[in-house]
Amino acid sequence: MNKENTKTISLSVVVPVYNEAENLPELFLKLEEVLPGITPYYDVIFVNDGSSDGCEEILNGFFSDNDFVSIIHLYKNFGKTPALEQGFEIARGDIIATLDSDLQNDPADLGPMVDKLVEGYDLVSGMRQGRQDPRGKILTSRLFNGIIRKTTGLRLMDYFSGMRCYRKKVLKALNLYGDLYRFALVFAHYDGFKVVEVPISHNPRRHGDSKYSKYTRLKRGLSDLLIVLFTIKFNFRRNYLLGVWGLILTGIGITVLFLNYMIRIIGAGTGGGVVGIIVGGLLLFVGAQFLLIKKIADNFVFHHQTGKNKRKKYIKEILIHPDNKVWEE
Ligand code: UDP
Ligand code: MG
Repeated sequence: MNKENTKTISLSVVVPVYNEAENLPELFLKLEEVLPGITPYYDVIFVNDGSSDGCEEILNGFFSDNDFVSIIHLYKNFGKTPALEQGFEIARGDIIATLDSDLQNDPADLGPMVDKLVEGYDLVSGMRQGRQDPRGKILTSRLFNGIIRKTTGLRLMDYFSGMRCYRKKVLKALNLYGDLYRFALVFAHYDGFKVVEVPISHNPRRHGDSKYSKYTRLKRGLSDLLIVLFTIKFNFRRNYLLGVWGLILTGIGITVLFLNYMIRIIGAGTGGGVVGIIVGGLLLFVGAQFLLIKKIADNFVFHHQTGKNKRKKYIKEILIHPDNKVWEE
């Protein structure tokens, strides 16, 4: 039997904020209304990702008036995932939830998501129902969701929802950083955690603009795919085999071309020349592709391993009430 109970579990909600001044007051009212109904032990960490539209003052106001609010101000705009990552670094709740600050997500959906987690799951992701986004964005998203579903073996509908609930141990174990959080569902599944989706509502953006253009979205989608494929599909053994086969094939290709050439030179070849060139050339070409893919995979792995160490100091200021219910030891 599951002894855990939503009334004793602590919850940290991490909210990335970039130029959402018009959305913050309503979002805050909703959070204030919903969170006490989930657990008495909650806090909200707003990460101000270099906003220039007055969010800083609004957030500081929330902080002065409310013990359950923590704020991280970043030096400049680093992007949503680096902003979330900074929030995760200080989040103390047993459950860590993420939520967009543009009112496209509804804090009311947090309750059912936390309930699902308490049922025995490790990561609960919000599956956006009736997505309220431009058509092009929905289509691109469908395409990438489809490819990820086919290639990773984790069968979900919506891999990139901004609303998720993680058990703290999942974030610790995955040890992700930067954009890799976007794939937390896939990585968590690969590491044996129980991942599930729960339907959530989705609202159109009423104030402010989406921070991503069509072009950035497509570019990000493609690089996302490469990251997933290289990090998951190209494990050490496969990468090694790719290198070995690359060398064997290029080696045979070069030998065939060389023998073909020698046979011609000594005048022993009668008609085998063209076939030799095609076979040797093809082997050389395929082998070179293997080596090239290995090189790209190496670069990805190298980049991801060193990225964390190279991470810059993003934080300008952290505001915390150390005696709030999640923070007090
Ligand atoms: N966001 C952020 N930094 C950025 C871009 C976005 O913190 O550089 C936040 C933004 O304020 C919002 C969430 O990330 O709360 C999702 O951004 P947006 O609504 O622009 O993305 P979309 O819903 O269009 O995918
Ligand atoms: Mg949005």
